[in-house]
Amino acid sequence: MVTATALVLEAANSNFQVERVELKRLQPEEVLVELRATGVCHTDISVQQGKIEAVFPVVLGHEGAGVVREVGANVDNVQVGDHVLLSYSYCNQCRHCQRGKTYQCVKMAERNFAACRPDGSSPMEWRGASLRGCFFGQSSFSSVALVQATSCVKVDKDMPLASLAPLGCGVQTGAGAVYNVLRPVDAGMKSVVIFGIGGVGSAAIMAAKVISEDHAGILTTIIAVDLSEERLELAKQLGATHVINPSTTESVVEAIHRITGPDGLEGAIDCTGVVAVINDMIVALGPGGRAVTIGAPPASAKMSIQVFPFINGCKSYEGSNAGNSNSSEFLPFLVELFRQGRLPIEMLQRTYKPTEVNEAVAAMLEGKVVKPVILWPEEQSQLVGN
Ligand SMILES: [Zn+2]
Ligand SMILES: [Zn+2]
Repeated sequence: MVTATALVLEAANSNFQVERVELKRLQPEEVLVELRATGVCHTDISVQQGKIEAVFPVVLGHEGAGVVREVGANVDNVQVGDHVLLSYSYCNQCRHCQRGKTYQCVKMAERNFAACRPDGSSPMEWRGASLRGCFFGQSSFSSVALVQATSCVKVDKDMPLASLAPLGCGVQTGAGAVYNVLRPVDAGMKSVVIFGIGGVGSAAIMAAKVISEDHAGILTTIIAVDLSEERLELAKQLGATHVINPSTTESVVEAIHRITGPDGLEGAIDCTGVVAVINDMIVALGPGGRAVTIGAPPASAKMSIQVFPFINGCKSYEGSNAGNSNSSEFLPFLVELFRQGRLPIEMLQRTYKPTEVNEAVAAMLEGKVVKPVILWPEEQSQLVGN
């Protein structure tokens, strides 16, 4: 029986508790991963705050990075000893997965949010009872975890796992919205605005900057919008050419139009999930402009489009999950950008011990830290021979 140190959430609106838990037997599609680090994402906090429904007690965490200690009989994408980044889970069997569009897997909701294995069982026990897990196929708020094979992406052993942990969700989503959804090079896109400069929005700006450096005339205008001057300063350091603070600007839409001039705004990404911001984003688009939503509003939220200017301007609006990223291909691409020093995600990070998790969540909510990363104690001794 493998045991682990996990951050257990006993009920909505409670604190995370550091507890010893027991892992169940490895299933054929699972990988036993010894975690080195796990990023904290707003989605974890939304579950904690009851904004996303869950069954408790549960172990969350979905930006894990670690070392493979054992693989199930049907696993062929990773081997014992491999270093892996963990991302969302997908079935690998539906039509979308078979076409490489794993981010739109028909089982996306159940495999990532149901907090149980695909067969409905729990991967862990705590105090002699079932403990919900397999959140995003991983529940990586744990020093060791049973992870779905499709969540595992191999990474070179010389890369720093603690720095790369957030790649699997936040960074992939933000950078993917630029690379995979807007596809600025194919579109000949000159301007983009990014609303909300947290972990996801920062990654979108980094990606936009890389593209602008590699392709003359593409994304020459990168606009960041945020209520915090500190975040706007960060956006400038990461590559924003212009910043707008709605708290000191009468009309964000007009401010965008002043920057983009008569050609109009061509691309936009909302990372805030605030409906009023999404509505403004559509209005701000120029002819042929494309807007992407990646920030999640409350489940019942509805945005609105004034249809005539939408038609007349040939505008489009689309949702994107995980930045339309096939993680087995896109994460290695992002790791390479990191290796080249072009994805400075460490600037956003602060590391915490597992016992400091509630402090980490508070710092994130107060806006003091963009990306908290939990570092796990070594569990190697009990795993040798597994
Ligand atoms: Zn996330
Ligand atoms: Zn699928």
